[in-house]
Amino acid sequence: MPCCPYCGWPDDDPVVTVSRHGGGATVWTRCVCGSLQMRERRGDVLAVCARSRPGGRPAATL
Ligand SMILES: [Zn+2]
Repeated sequence: MPCCPYCGWPDDDPVVTVSRHGGGATVWTRCVCGSLQMRERRGDVLAVCARSRPGGRPAATL
């Protein structure tokens, strides 16, 4: 299952929905760690296609 590279939260369980665009085809969500995620609807799923670093934190070491 895909998950946040910064805190490990599962992408399938968005914490905060920030905004929706295009009738829900594009959704911005925010993870528990503060990372913003841009999601695009592909069929039945909202796939994360871009994400920011958590605010005020250095990049996670993977
Ligand atoms: Zn996270």
